[in-house]
Amino acid sequence: MDEKSRVLVVGGTGYIGRRIVRASLAQDPTLVLMRLEIGLDVDKLQMLLSFKKQGARLVEASIDDHAGLVAAVAQADVVISAMSWSHIRSHNLLLQHKLVKAIKEAGNVKRFIPSEFGMDPYRMRHALEPGNITFVEKMDLRRAIEEANIPHTYISANCFAAIFCPNLCQMRTLLPPKEKVHVCGDGNVKAIFVDEDDVATYTIRSIDYPRTLNKTIYLRPQENILTQNDVIAKWEKLSGKVLEKIYITANELLGSMKGNYKYCSMYEDIMCLG
Ligand code: NDP
Repeated sequence: MDEKSRVLVVGGTGYIGRRIVRASLAQDPTLVLMRLEIGLDVDKLQMLLSFKKQGARLVEASIDDHAGLVAAVAQADVVISAMSWSHIRSHNLLLQHKLVKAIKEAGNVKRFIPSEFGMDPYRMRHALEPGNITFVEKMDLRRAIEEANIPHTYISANCFAAIFCPNLCQMRTLLPPKEKVHVCGDGNVKAIFVDEDDVATYTIRSIDYPRTLNKTIYLRPQENILTQNDVIAKWEKLSGKVLEKIYITANELLGSMKGNYKYCSMYEDIMCLG
């Protein structure tokens, strides 16, 4: 591509989406989908207006309005989805399929990056219930993208560092434990921690590389491949305090996840439950 690609970010006010918008603004003409449903969500609106100030064009549409979504997508060369998977499962899958349908109909998109940014779902076929749901749904979406012949790139970002490192891989908190730490299994399974801004930067850099077309990009900084024990040891060295270790089995972890899908897929890789 000789000219700069016009990038449309869907889910641009989300956790990873806002970073992708910022990375895109630094490199390409950027459009951000402004969902009509945000209504009185002042925080989202202010963020969207700040994107506009930084040079983004806000494109109004609703994921549920097919014609409007097709018109929005038609304005872009590249579509990046950073939509959530973690609210109402089947509803979210339906939304992601609606976006794929609109991209197919618009017919002009040179590259689509679907909302993955985690473990490669293709390599997670061994994952157990309930944590496997995200992977199953992401594979379902991949099939739809490939059947529709939409040029794509999948980004495998492994574990977001700010979600997994400060809490030493504990569930339901982002802060480091003070006295006791729960260790998954024996704590020796390796995981890959990637800074969220790096995820966004490499996502944007991938769009104009022909080699990344219809491929998966694995973000795997060598120095960030650590076991949970490594992460804990680093914190103990920094804080000068040794934590009591409580070892939890796969079944105990799975039991604690029941009904809390937000955590399921995130922690499964660290436990290597398969
Ligand atoms: P968020 O929960 O922050 O939501 C992202 C966006 O999704 C929202 O800002 C919103 O877009 C859109 N959205 C949410 N609900 C709806 C709805 N009902 N209808 C329409 N749009 C909706 O998502 P994350 O950033 O946490 O997740 C994005 C991706 O990153 C996912 O694929 C997830 O699996 C992955 N991820 C990976 C992690 C890792 O450690 N590797 C950790 C966390 C997420 P809008 O801006 O338009 O309002």
